[in-house]
Amino acid sequence: MPVVPRMAPEWIAEEAGSSDIARKVERNRQYATTLGWGAHLPALRRALNRKRTAWDEAALVSEAAKWQARTGLAADGLVGPATWSLLRVAAGLGKDPAVSVQLPDSGPGFHSTGRADHRFGRAETVRALQAVAAAWQRAHPRGPRIGIGDISLRGGGPIPGHGSHRLGLDVDIRPLRDDGREAPVLRGHPGYSQELTQELVDRLRANGVLRVHFILFNDPGVRGVQRWKNHDNHLHVRFAPPTGAPASQAAAPAISVPGRQNAGRTAARPTAVGSTALGTLTTLAPGPAGPAPPYRFSPEDLLWTARFVIGESGGRDDLETHAVLHAMFNRYALLTRHRYGTFEAFLRACSTPLQRVLRDWRAARRHMHRADYVRTGDTYEAPAPPGIPRGQLRAFHRLQQLPWDRLPDAARTVAFRALTGAVPNPVGNATEFGSTWQYFRDRYRRSPNLEEWRQYTEALAQRKGWSWIGPVPGIDQTKNAFFTDRRLAGLPRGAVRVLPP
Ligand SMILES: [Zn+2]
Repeated sequence: MPVVPRMAPEWIAEEAGSSDIARKVERNRQYATTLGWGAHLPALRRALNRKRTAWDEAALVSEAAKWQARTGLAADGLVGPATWSLLRVAAGLGKDPAVSVQLPDSGPGFHSTGRADHRFGRAETVRALQAVAAAWQRAHPRGPRIGIGDISLRGGGPIPGHGSHRLGLDVDIRPLRDDGREAPVLRGHPGYSQELTQELVDRLRANGVLRVHFILFNDPGVRGVQRWKNHDNHLHVRFAPPTGAPASQAAAPAISVPGRQNAGRTAARPTAVGSTALGTLTTLAPGPAGPAPPYRFSPEDLLWTARFVIGESGGRDDLETHAVLHAMFNRYALLTRHRYGTFEAFLRACSTPLQRVLRDWRAARRHMHRADYVRTGDTYEAPAPPGIPRGQLRAFHRLQQLPWDRLPDAARTVAFRALTGAVPNPVGNATEFGSTWQYFRDRYRRSPNLEEWRQYTEALAQRKGWSWIGPVPGIDQTKNAFFTDRRLAGLPRGAVRVLPP
């Protein structure tokens, strides 16, 4: 087990506000020139949101952020090099040579149901599908095989009959039948197998090659999917774009099944992640971002929550961890649900140890001279001082790749209990936390006394538009202080709940 250093969450310093929007508008203005997309604004806007008619630069930031969230990118609203390289293809302004691998007519465990010229994907997409199908064949040697339909055109871009499927990352797959036939079927209709379809969803999500961003399908009895109109007769699988890192780093680790040890406690611990029923995140009252439908946690959420617990609070099953997890539930349910399709995407964007590349240049500056700082290429842009290399600590890259069965027991247990509604909430509607003790030290080069720490914490809350929640018995907030966003002042305490499965 690698030793994972403790690091304060840094997103406390990168909250979006109006000055943040102004800064992003300015950055996009520069990108429009340097990357050249300023000359293609109408096509770019259509690709972001073809229904929107009123556009200005701030709208472009918010629509770009939504598009990035849907696509599986960090949702910062900046149309920079990584976003533009995909967006230009989605907009039909150019082809992507990476979308050039054709799924064969058939192979172990699958047959193709669509047109051959609609069957091009990225190498990782096709490999992920073939891996799932091969495992399916081993589990179901007598069939039925998986029926895989449209992916993308060669090179990607707009494709007849679909709003998406433009980047070699979307795949339509038939639900499975219970009569052994390889034919179309609608969920809930005679011949439809909820059990086999659930197994397919679990296998897709744990494929070990490419991270699944979301799956659309309308059977409310299937876990790990979201409802979407016109998805009764197929599952729409969206993979997240490969990160461009070596395959071992881009791949989501397969979720394996830890053995049943310590039988007396297994009730509180997942033994088979892919098929474990998890809870549902609900809100009693809508947050400032509007009402959010209930959100069912997925096995992928469970895996990343366990990693999160290790990175953010040392992996212990204690009150501080409970507090941190509830703050994340609150923040996701009440404030950022519209920006991130899944809870794990939210964790990976917002939690410093889970970021592939540190988002905050201040964190990078603190670590850039360490031997275990991995440079990922390029430097941070203004307002960062020039010359700070982008990167992340090696220990955190390792943490991001640790498979479920190698995570410490305490972290797995607390993650599972939290995602099944078994962990009480000690922090009310708190949505933010930060190591204000450490921030004070960074700023003044000495430790504060308790009164100085309290004043510093209150002042920071004031600046950020938050309220410090005050002392909580059993939680030492000099490690992490907890705050409630003031926009939530009118909500009843405990507005967010995790309902047990
Ligand atoms: Zn589709």
